Amino acid sequence: MSDPSRRTALKAAAAAATLAVVGFPNLARSQTRMFTLPPLPYADSALAPVISANTLGFHYGKHHKTYVDNLNNLVKGTAHEGATLEKIVADSAGKADQAGMFNNAAQIWNHTFYWNSLKPKGGGKPSGKLAAMIDSDLGGYDNFRKEFAATTVSQFGSGWGWLVVEGGKLKVVKTGNAEVPFTKGQKPLLTIDVWEHAYYLDYQNKRADYVNALIDQLLNWDFAAENLAKA
Ligand code: MN
Repeated sequence: MSDPSRRTALKAAAAAATLAVVGFPNLARSQTRMFTLPPLPYADSALAPVISANTLGFHYGKHHKTYVDNLNNLVKGTAHEGATLEKIVADSAGKADQAGMFNNAAQIWNHTFYWNSLKPKGGGKPSGKLAAMIDSDLGGYDNFRKEFAATTVSQFGSGWGWLVVEGGKLKVVKTGNAEVPFTKGQKPLLTIDVWEHAYYLDYQNKRADYVNALIDQLLNWDFAAENLAKA
């Protein structure tokens, strides 16, 4: 074992074995198209103090991840295997016998959309086309701000508040549980999660404080503008 060339050979063999082990799951994933937890667009402390690192860590690392793990188990051996996330959501929506499939797929989609709907030092008034549409469709920024907060806060139980485009106009809507606007012909621009896990560690029962803080300090209007351009 003290022979340097033998040590080098052993090291090379170990490195090759590591590569093979690392490489195999990647290959398997690409063949079966398993879903993966998309990376957060920022550090889990980046939205503090509006959303604490503790809340973000649990929300992303436990809740969002669990939906990914659940869906990977659920799609195995079904007609959904190999389909895109959006197709699974669309195809399982409204089908009682596929509620688990829909809930987990839609919640993966919703959470990825939610992380992107927020950014550090966001919030406030948008500019450009969005500002003009808020004026023409929603009665100006101050009205939008009130309506988005009121609609989102009033979602009974778990769900989501949304800014969407429908028929070329901006609209504020809410959905319950895992429901998504895009199965109803509405194109989402921004969302706020009002499941209790999104705010209870930081705001307890004060859902309105959480929603208003997101609107004023975290909304990512750049993401909304990208979605509007694709709508
Ligand atoms: Mn959530």
